[in-house]
Amino acid sequence: MSQNATVRHSWVLRHRPSGEPSPDDFALREDAVPEPGPGEVVTRTIWLSIDPYMRGRLREQQTYAVAIQIGEVMTGETVGEVIASGDPQFAPGDVVVGARGWQSHCVTLADRLVKLPRQGAPLSTYLGVLGMPGATAYRGITEICQPKAGETVVVSAASGAVGSVAGQLAKRAGARVVGVAGGPEKCLFVQETLGFDDCIDHRSMDLRRELTASCPSGIDAYFENVGGAIQAAVFDLLNPFSRVAMCGMVSQYNEPEFPPGPNLGFVVGKRVLIQGFIVSDKPEKLAEWRALAAPWVADGTLAYREDVHEGLEEAPAALVGILGGQNFGKLLVRVGENPT
Ligand code: NDP
Repeated sequence: MSQNATVRHSWVLRHRPSGEPSPDDFALREDAVPEPGPGEVVTRTIWLSIDPYMRGRLREQQTYAVAIQIGEVMTGETVGEVIASGDPQFAPGDVVVGARGWQSHCVTLADRLVKLPRQGAPLSTYLGVLGMPGATAYRGITEICQPKAGETVVVSAASGAVGSVAGQLAKRAGARVVGVAGGPEKCLFVQETLGFDDCIDHRSMDLRRELTASCPSGIDAYFENVGGAIQAAVFDLLNPFSRVAMCGMVSQYNEPEFPPGPNLGFVVGKRVLIQGFIVSDKPEKLAEWRALAAPWVADGTLAYREDVHEGLEEAPAALVGILGGQNFGKLLVRVGENPT
C-alpha cells in the first residue's frame, strides 16, 4: 500500500476479539486526506508504534484508558511529517511525534505534537528507546525499583522495548541484573548486547530452578512486564524490603477473564513494596528521559533493537505477534518514507 497524497488509509476495529486477536478483527478504511481546521495539523505517517497496551483498548470494559469503539480508528503513537497546518507553530516539512492512529495520515491538535530534530537520533527511536517505552523503564527503575550497587534486579520481557532499557538502567546503578526472555536468541542478545549479567529462558523446562541458581542472594527489585509463571517464580525469591515495579502483565492480556492473583501474605512479613504505575501519569518525565538518554543513544552506551514491519497493512498482524512474543525488540511499522 503506497502513501498517496489524496487518499487516507485507516485501520478501524471491526469486532472485539475474545482471547487472541486476529487481523480479521480490523478493517481497512479509505477516505480523502483531510484538511486541517484551525489549531489542527495534518501529518503523513512515517513510523507507527505497536504496543501491548493496545490489546486493553480492544476490551469492552474500560481498563485505565478508554476502550476503542467498533468502527473507530485504532490508536497508536506515530512519527510523521507535517503536510498541512492550521497552526502557526507547525509548517509543512516539520517532523513530529504525538499524532495517534493506525493511519497513513492523521489530523491532530497542534498542542499534542512535539517537533523533532531532523538531525540526530533516528526518527524511529522517538517511539522506542527515546520515547514512551524508554520513559516507562526510566520511571519504573528510578521511582520504584531504585536499585543500589550490589543488589540483584530481575527484569521480565528483557529483550523488549521497556525491559531492555530497564535492565540497562539497573546496570548503570551498579546492580547485578538478570533478565527473563523467550528463547535462546533473545537471551543471548540480552546478555551480549544489552550487558545483563544473566538471562533465563522462560520457555525452559525449569524456570524456577534456573532463576534460583542465577539469584543466589535473592531478588532485591523486580521490573514486572509479564506476570504469570514468571511472576510466581520471582515472588518466591524476593528479599525483605525488596521493590516490585508493576509495569505490565502481557501474558494475560489475551485472557477473557484475568486469572486469580497469588497469595500476597509474604508482602507483609518481608515488607515488600509493590507499586503499579502508568507512564502517562507524569508526561513531563518523557522530555526529561529524552534529554538524559539521547547522548547515551548517540554514543552507543544505551543499546536498543527494533523489529520493523513494512507497510501499514502489517499493523494488525504485528499486534497479534507482540502479544505472543513474536517481536524481537521495539515493534514498529514503517508506513511512509523518511524525509531526512
Ligand atoms: P515488548 O517489546 O517487551 O514485547 C512484549 C514481550 O512480552 C514479547 O516480546 C514477549 O517477550 C513477552 N511476552 C508476550 N507474551 C508473553 C507470555 N505469554 N509470556 C511471557 N512473555 C510474553 O513490549 P513493551 O516493551 O512495549 O512492553 C513491555 C510491558 O510493559 C508490557 O507489559 C506493557 O504492557 C508494559 N508497559 C507499561 C507501561 C506503563 O505505563 N505501565 C507503558 C508501556 C509498556 P519474550 O519472548 O521475551 O517472552
